[in-house]
Amino acid sequence: MIPKTFSATCVDLSYEGKGVVKNGKDVYFVSAMFPGEEGEIAFDYSRNGAKFGKLVRLTKKSADRVDPKCKICSACGGCDFQQLAYPAQLEYKTKKVGEQFRKIAKMDVEVAPCIGMDDPYFYRNKIQMPFAKDNRGRWYCGFYKANTHVIVPVDTCYIEDERAKQILDAIKKLAPSFKIEPYLEDEGRGMLRHALIRTSKHLDGVMVVLVTYKEAFPSRNNFVKALVKECPFITTVVQNVNPRHTNVILGDFERVLYGPGFIEDMLCGIRFRISPKSFYQVNPVMTEKLYGEAIKAARLTGEETIFDAYSGIGTIGMVASKSCKNVIAVEIVEAAVKDAIQNAKRNGISNVRFYCDDASSFMVRMARNNQHVDVVFLDPPRKGSDERCLDAICKLKPNRIVYVSCDPSTLARDVKYLSKAYSLESVQPVDMFPFTMHVETVAMLRLKDSKK
Ligand code: SAH
Repeated sequence: MIPKTFSATCVDLSYEGKGVVKNGKDVYFVSAMFPGEEGEIAFDYSRNGAKFGKLVRLTKKSADRVDPKCKICSACGGCDFQQLAYPAQLEYKTKKVGEQFRKIAKMDVEVAPCIGMDDPYFYRNKIQMPFAKDNRGRWYCGFYKANTHVIVPVDTCYIEDERAKQILDAIKKLAPSFKIEPYLEDEGRGMLRHALIRTSKHLDGVMVVLVTYKEAFPSRNNFVKALVKECPFITTVVQNVNPRHTNVILGDFERVLYGPGFIEDMLCGIRFRISPKSFYQVNPVMTEKLYGEAIKAARLTGEETIFDAYSGIGTIGMVASKSCKNVIAVEIVEAAVKDAIQNAKRNGISNVRFYCDDASSFMVRMARNNQHVDVVFLDPPRKGSDERCLDAICKLKPNRIVYVSCDPSTLARDVKYLSKAYSLESVQPVDMFPFTMHVETVAMLRLKDSKK
């Protein structure tokens, strides 16, 4: 059946990076269609009341449309902007941040132009891919097609570290001869669920985490030996067992199969150890820029006590520790806190204290004890912080809050909440995730009536 189509002009890009078109009163969101473009659209699917369309024929092209490097970008759910020129991606991100402040915080703010990458390809240091077999028994791996559990086979991914491809190719090649089966989600059988690969940018660490459905892993040692022989640059291999029927990739149980079980990387001149479960920013080149912007926004003089909330393996606090008196850091994942403590020791940093706790509970206790803090760094996950934490900060009255956010909508919500006691001084987006609709932002807030 030929789908019914309608002609429309793209008027905007949505929060999710999709082209916005109108058909009568209906709004449709269309992947890889850019403002000013005209085309024939067919209904694709609807989700939570929103309609999504497919671009069937493009009749007028945007000057910002480019030929994608990646030939499977339309099928794969990984990138939103393979076909959008890089400067236009940056413009979109700058605008998106401003729009969130307008919509959610009802604030008109001046947003600095998004800082981009000189070379926005092959930037990711973390890759996680599921495996499957085609009907001829050949292994493939790839990304899930957007909103489905269908794996789109990926041969070369243009945003991932190039070493990952060699490792994935070796796994696909070796697995059949070791009688390893890919895990079949729908049937709940098979063995290998995902490979998670982490690479260091500035040191030679390469970690492979083999996520299996069950603990049993026949010919485990021989498989690892063969894998390392194929890819001698691998420095550690870990088995992670995830028996749950879930979208979460890693399970609880881990066994180190080769090497130390973690990798190390250098960031802003500090050596960091990274375990499989610890959070580590995925774009090492831009992380240095991001932290640079965060530290600059904090205007440290060397005298401050700073608080690093949602500290991961201690990166922001440790980078800031060189320019302040002392740092208190809090993070909820135990493995990350262990990494952080080791990281401080090995780098000879002694003015940072790490605590494993919920950031809000910890902050409430700090406020109750009237502890003195000059600057708070907040770097929460996508869902942002919460009112308990923000209320406690308002009681602690640090002079400055530097909020590092990977979601401008929760950033705007939290800034609005803080605006009873703080004024927003600067907003700087940083492009940590080229070719995707995501944007990282550093916002600095200053205590109202404070001179500093
Ligand atoms: N600042 C770090 C990590 C940022 S990611 C960096 O730049 O690398 C957000 C971190 O918040 C993750 O490490 C996550 O484990 C942690 N986290 C999530 N919920 C938390 C909570 N309620 N309390 C403290 N930390 C939390």
